[in-house]
Amino acid sequence: NTFEQLGLNEQLLNAIKDMGFETPSEVQDKAIPVLLAKDTDMVALAQTGTGKTAAFGFPLIQKIDANSRETQGLILSPTRELCLQITQELKNYSKYVKGLRVVAIYGGASITEQAKEVRRGAHIVVATPGRMQDMIRRNMVDITNIHTCVLDEADEMLNMGFYEDITSILSHTPREKNTWLFSATMPREVASIASEFMSNPYEITV
Ligand code: AMP
Repeated sequence: NTFEQLGLNEQLLNAIKDMGFETPSEVQDKAIPVLLAKDTDMVALAQTGTGKTAAFGFPLIQKIDANSRETQGLILSPTRELCLQITQELKNYSKYVKGLRVVAIYGGASITEQAKEVRRGAHIVVATPGRMQDMIRRNMVDITNIHTCVLDEADEMLNMGFYEDITSILSHTPREKNTWLFSATMPREVASIASEFMSNPYEITV
């Protein structure tokens, strides 16, 4: 398969060309057409290094209306490092999408600076669960109109004790959104998050 055949738009295809990606990885091949074409939840079993960031990042970017000021997508990830890495990758992927803003929210840095970034516009928020929960509580970020929520490295987030934060964050999101869960392993805790917060998810394994 080629990236063209997956249904990606011209802005993304141009960015992909700049990054030098030649062919979609297996997880991209399996996830991207489904996430673009269907209004569906997804559970993807995929390790780091498989290209999973682009597997959820490309379709999410394509689903953003950059003309709206609303926050439309939320990505939760376990650590500050991962959060910054995903944010940087999404900025690269979306470099030709005019006006699209991706903002990182994570602990250990100034919350007022991050709130300022959100106020300037944040179509996609990439967050660690603790800081995200804190900023919701302080009304610094509004996720009540998101259409997509990505839980990245769900097994790691649960290992780190973020269950309560995750469920509380999800309770501030609309019921009718799509949730895309990516995890390297599927322990009972991950399966129970999936069954609690997702409906009839499309499943892929790589
Ligand atoms: P990830 O699994 O998302 O952490 O991605 C691992 C690395 O592979 C990242 O540095 C990506 O930039 C790179 N990558 C992702 N998809 C592709 C692809 N289709 N072709 C070449 N490199 C890729």
